[in-house]
Amino acid sequence: MLVSQILKQKPQGVITAAPAMTIAELAALLAQHKIGAVVVTTDQKSVQGIVSERDIVRVLGQKGAAALTQPISSIMTAKVVTCPLDVRATHVLQLMTEGRFRHMPVMADGALVGMISIGDVVKARLSELAMEKDALEGMIKGF
Ligand code: AMP
Repeated sequence: MLVSQILKQKPQGVITAAPAMTIAELAALLAQHKIGAVVVTTDQKSVQGIVSERDIVRVLGQKGAAALTQPISSIMTAKVVTCPLDVRATHVLQLMTEGRFRHMPVMADGALVGMISIGDVVKARLSELAMEKDALEGMIKGF
């Protein structure tokens, strides 16, 4: 399954945050949308960074509640791995496993068009495997 097909099954649009947003505001945004990471951007197109719940936990563990008023730009990952629309889910899973992260911004013509999580990729792969199993069973049983 391609990344473009996974995105079609998700609600349109990407939740993003501005670099000046505070860590407390980001925590509220992640909770409100029930998501684990957002792309940091000023124009909704280019990717300046990515910040996930892991980054929040790390800084709170190091600095305590005083960190909540820091801007998210101070904890974001600036070197973001992205993917295009026409790559396979299995390739994205490999990149996530190698990079030890669970979120992947999707780009088209240099602009942010979506975000997929490891949960989306695993769900897509499981449904693909179920279809392959049904097809193989059909061939064996002669349907
Ligand atoms: P995650 O597993 O996605 O919650 O993220 C774990 C760490 O990797 C955090 O420090 C994130 O900022 C970072 N991260 C998440 N997604 C990406 C990505 N696509 N490229 C680079 N770093 C990422």
